[in-house]
Amino acid sequence: MIRLPEFSYYSPKTLRETLKILASERGKARAVAGGTDLFPNMKRRVQTPAVLVSLNQVKELHRNISRRRSAGIVIPSGSTLSEVSRNQLIQQFYPSLSKTASSIATPLIQNMGTIGGNLCLDTRCTYYNQSPEWRESVGYCMKAPEGKPDIPCRVAPGSPQCVAVNSSDTAPLFCALQGEFTLVSSDGERKIKACDFYRNDGELYLNLKPDEILSEMILPLPENLKVCYLKLRRRGSFDFPVLGVAAALKIANQKVEEARIFLNAVSSAPIEAAESEKILIGSSLEDGKLKKETIAKSARQAVKYSAPYDNTDFYAFWRKEMTEVFVKRALESLNEPEILKEL
Ligand SMILES: Cc1cc2nc3c(=O)[nH]c(=O)nc-3n(C[C@H](O)[C@H](O)[C@H](O)COP(=O)(O)OP(=O)(O)OC[C@H]3O[C@@H](n4cnc5c(N)ncnc54)[C@H](O)[C@@H]3O)c2cc1C
Repeated sequence: MIRLPEFSYYSPKTLRETLKILASERGKARAVAGGTDLFPNMKRRVQTPAVLVSLNQVKELHRNISRRRSAGIVIPSGSTLSEVSRNQLIQQFYPSLSKTASSIATPLIQNMGTIGGNLCLDTRCTYYNQSPEWRESVGYCMKAPEGKPDIPCRVAPGSPQCVAVNSSDTAPLFCALQGEFTLVSSDGERKIKACDFYRNDGELYLNLKPDEILSEMILPLPENLKVCYLKLRRRGSFDFPVLGVAAALKIANQKVEEARIFLNAVSSAPIEAAESEKILIGSSLEDGKLKKETIAKSARQAVKYSAPYDNTDFYAFWRKEMTEVFVKRALESLNEPEILKEL
């Protein structure tokens, strides 16, 4: 049995109390929600916070998912993945988010794991998510150097930064849905667009200060928006994605008015495939559907934005090739009434 390292544990009841603890323990403390990712990482000693601040009892983070008239749908970060997938508002306005949440890990993990934890998920790598003995045998790595500075990235030794991947299933979807996040600390509150929350750096992967937490996410109402998320993984049961594609199209007057395509698990942050989007924007529909050639052209462009390394399951070159296939499938699925197909 792998044991957790020692740590002090706080379980505050209010947001104010939580932020006060995080401020006073700045740098030493880490928030924990469901713990489904943090605890395994602590057992592997890749994350060893001296202080844990549980968000589970913080009432402000566990309010109901609600509709805010002008802004859209507000999702408190403490909502579990099960709550998100079963929520009526989510099912009505964002069926793709409901289905994506129910495709993460296993039902037990969905009952514990939160949407906030999923959006703040640590980046992953075959050289990082290993036991201490395994990491010692290869001399550790840039992201978990075990006290020795100047250790290169084991996957891309010439890279100035860590290339661990963002494997969150919901992060690319929130980017494609143009979600906005509320971050809070004892200094106050700030809003950040979902796509600006992520940094393409395996070590410093979030624009989040050490004493800050994600309190809620706001999704604008999806007027005429068709959305889907597809992921590639070895087993369709509980594996992490090794390629994720979120696509959203806004259709008006038989034309594509807006297009958003975000790739994930092929870099350290969700990446927007801007040139693929450009090809779609302004294109006319035929019999209410996107033309095959437009889809094919857009999907081909997406490959440029896919930069996988051999640090997850499957070969990197194959994941890159599959980017075109998955973007094509995602766009084709938006032509169908059933908007999310799990692959
Ligand atoms: C077997 C297995 C399979 C999995 N499969 C998938 C998968 O397919 N797809 C996927 O996306 N994930 C997967 N996961 C990862 C994980 O279970 C989920 O991402 C889950 O949603 C994480 O939520 P949590 O509340 O448990 O996060 P925690 O483990 O509590 O926290 C994760 C990280 O987020 C930080 N954090 C948590 N809440 C906040 C907050 N409100 N503000 C700021 N920081 C915060 C923590 O400090 C920590 O760094 C899997 C995990 C396991 C064990």
